[in-house]
Amino acid sequence: MTLVIARTREELAAARDSFGTIALVPTMGALHEGHRSLIRRARGLANTVAVSIFVNPLQFGPGEDLDRYPRTFPEDLAICAEEGVGLIFAPTVETMYPENGDGGVTVSSGEMGTVVEGVTRPGHFDGVLTVVLKLFNLIRPDIAVFGEKDAQQLAMIRRMVTDLNVPVWIDGCPTVREEDGLALSSRNRYLSSAERVTALSLSLALRMGATASPDGPAKILSAARVVLEEAAETEPPLELDYVVLVDPTTFHEVGEEHVGPAVLAVAGRVGSTHLIDNMPLYLAPAPSTES
Ligand code: AMP
Repeated sequence: MTLVIARTREELAAARDSFGTIALVPTMGALHEGHRSLIRRARGLANTVAVSIFVNPLQFGPGEDLDRYPRTFPEDLAICAEEGVGLIFAPTVETMYPENGDGGVTVSSGEMGTVVEGVTRPGHFDGVLTVVLKLFNLIRPDIAVFGEKDAQQLAMIRRMVTDLNVPVWIDGCPTVREEDGLALSSRNRYLSSAERVTALSLSLALRMGATASPDGPAKILSAARVVLEEAAETEPPLELDYVVLVDPTTFHEVGEEHVGPAVLAVAGRVGSTHLIDNMPLYLAPAPSTES
């Protein structure tokens, strides 16, 4: 299959109907093994895999890394070709936001957009949902594949397609990690080697939390905090934004009696790099004490 690259809405519209069913993998580029795993998953789900590459200004807050976010289109193109992608949609900001994005109609992420990562990044999820809905309307995929690495984003997109009756099936893919546990992220390339050592505390905290999962939420969180507090004292330090144990669909923190699936989510800054990670857990009911 030849790889079609569409940069404008017209190019996309002209090509769209030749693709049959489409599984879309939305990305901001700087593709890595995590993105490859999404593309491979998508390949089994539809006739054509489409990858969108767009660094979406609407989801970056003031003082965030919009300007320095890595842009590596030639390498991304090579990866897409290797992975059998049929369509790349790589629009400019002007194509996606002809009105400059000012004062226009956007998607509101509601209450879920204001908790956990939404506290650290106000407006972020409104920007994410707005661009995802625009991409869905332009590309008209049957399925879209997202990473569990951004667990709150995945939960919010599922919520959006339900609440707004968007006819796209949403599929989630497990987080791909380096051998030492660091979750792959386009932002990892900002890290110096010393910062990378500190960044490992995020995934280590999740693993320590997971080992405490039979003991319930308070013990899970304190096991994770031990690692994170130690990392806050190292050089360079981890500046922790949050560590929370939440319900995977609402992102509300779970109580001590919670039974069922939960997500242990952590975020922080190392130097000027904002990193997030999470781990899905299952909290089993406490064993009965009756004999
Ligand atoms: P991004 O380019 O960072 O916006 O990510 C595009 C998609 O790739 C999102 O659905 C992310 O959740 C997913 N993704 C990013 N990193 C990973 C990873 N390490 N493992 C699995 N999926 C990932």
